[in-house]
Amino acid sequence: MKDRHKISFVIAMGLSLVMLAGCADGQSANVAVTEKNTQAEDTGKDTRDSGNEAENSNIAKTETVETIEPQKAGEVINSDAIEAMGVANLFYSSEISPDIQNRIMGSSYRENEDIALSELRYLRVLYYGFDGETHIGEMIVNEKIAQDVLEIMQELYENQYPIEKMVLIDEYDADDETSMEDNNTSAFNYRKINGSTKLSKHSMGLAIDINPRFNPCVKTINGALSVEPINGEAYTDRTQEFPYKITKEDLCYQLFIEHGFTWGGSWNSLKDYQHFEKDI
Ligand SMILES: [Zn+2]
Repeated sequence: MKDRHKISFVIAMGLSLVMLAGCADGQSANVAVTEKNTQAEDTGKDTRDSGNEAENSNIAKTETVETIEPQKAGEVINSDAIEAMGVANLFYSSEISPDIQNRIMGSSYRENEDIALSELRYLRVLYYGFDGETHIGEMIVNEKIAQDVLEIMQELYENQYPIEKMVLIDEYDADDETSMEDNNTSAFNYRKINGSTKLSKHSMGLAIDINPRFNPCVKTINGALSVEPINGEAYTDRTQEFPYKITKEDLCYQLFIEHGFTWGGSWNSLKDYQHFEKDI
């Protein structure tokens, strides 16, 4: 079930012909959007008198929530289309569909007694890329923090907080190191804490890693420094200035804390600067 209203628009390119195609209320039980989002139709601007309608119709492009939905995470979304549809309509959660199940089964998800698929939610969000473009992001989290994460991600997006990538860790065969080296922001992964027999909070979908390459996990093992990911070594000295660094002054840190999460950068035994988790 999708957690949002459905709005259909035809957005004409070229001479900015915008024709309202219709508005259907597809609200489900798990609503993650507010009433204000349905007001996007007010932004529809009728400029038909000023242009050649027949000519424009040839270059009209249909862009709706439904046409965006099948697009792969990572793709760039046109900012005019987002404004017309209402930003919040593009931040929503759904139960794990058969398609998503196929992507994660035997990879980030395995049959187990700790977490059921029904306890997880697939999130679709927007994020502001390092390239300054708006991208589609995806993430799987525990249903108990789905709403928190949607709100945090929307706030980050609206404040143009840069995130480089946000695809399921299954795109990296659920390999944490590979995903982190690629600076991929992700959450759910049924796995043990590296170097431990204890399950990670990521196993329950209750932890999120943001821009991990620039915010590595740093610990000392037998006197030797361990850095994950390996290519995050240049970012272990947190007194240095560099972009994408999460600190206590950072919006990302502040939003997660406001929503009741703790930050791995505050831990004493090790420092996991990319990591936010919630105790439920
Ligand atoms: Zn983590």
